[in-house]
Amino acid sequence: MNDALNIDLHTHSTCSDGALAPGDLVAAAAAAGVEVLALTDHDTVAGLEIAAKHAVPLGLRLVPGVEISAAWRCQSIHVLGLWIDPADGGLRRALDSQAARRYERMRRICARLSEMHLPGDALLSAVLAHPGLPSRTHLAAALVADGHVRSSQQAFRQFLGRGKAADIAADWPALDAVVGWVRSAGGVAALAHPARYALSAGTRRQLLADFAASGGTALEVITGGNSPHTVEACAQLAVNHGLAGSVGSDFHDPNLSWNRLGRSLKLPACVAPVWRQQGL
Ligand code: AMP
Ligand code: MN
Ligand code: MN
Ligand code: MN
Repeated sequence: MNDALNIDLHTHSTCSDGALAPGDLVAAAAAAGVEVLALTDHDTVAGLEIAAKHAVPLGLRLVPGVEISAAWRCQSIHVLGLWIDPADGGLRRALDSQAARRYERMRRICARLSEMHLPGDALLSAVLAHPGLPSRTHLAAALVADGHVRSSQQAFRQFLGRGKAADIAADWPALDAVVGWVRSAGGVAALAHPARYALSAGTRRQLLADFAASGGTALEVITGGNSPHTVEACAQLAVNHGLAGSVGSDFHDPNLSWNRLGRSLKLPACVAPVWRQQGL
């Protein structure tokens, strides 16, 4: 809880790789006591309208959001766009280009799996049968369902994760371009889960400096599964780079326990809450 507000600014629905449809996500968040919720699907705003409709009778404030995939020094980096205008034409066109990149990368990953004597075409069909934009989460689930691995984690460890045989780099746009899309759509750009990237401490500081220089104004200080020690380190990073702090579960699925809705830790007092600028 943050200043008595229960706030969760990072969640996924079936419009990307989440397990709950947008309306069900909103209902689950309200039931968990969340008062301010951002829906931040990967590279799409398709769920925002229906989520907003479901939020009204529940008295839950819905923050229009998106989690955009970007590239920085050959690393995939996730940028949260919060309080965006989902109708913004420039953002719409940019997200259409992201969707095309996702379809293309998924085709290439499945072709690679075929080369490895896995049923790539059938796996691709299973991914494309999903209502959301294609994601490695869906492919991992298809690999589990077809009996090739025992768990999603194993699918990433064995095939899909960094450096593995079917790790196909997506042609994500540069970090500063993505921050620009968010800002042009009236949003606040927050760098997501800074501790999750495989970077040295010095390189991480450089990432934060570049992010701030390109117009990013917030850092996700609290994200699902972070230890208090990591939260403190991220809070220090935010302060050092003049960034506000954000809080989000990164909720995907009620069956995953590490990122439950509305269970966020308190933002350390040294960091300015990103929602304060929005009058919350
Ligand atoms: P994509 O956006 O298609 O690159 O897929 C990335 C998504 O896969 C992330 O947003 C997570 O939801 C999920 N993911 C990443 N790494 C793992 C992992 N090791 N185990 C399970 N899911 C993962
Ligand atoms: Mn995801
Ligand atoms: Mn992410
Ligand atoms: Mn996420």
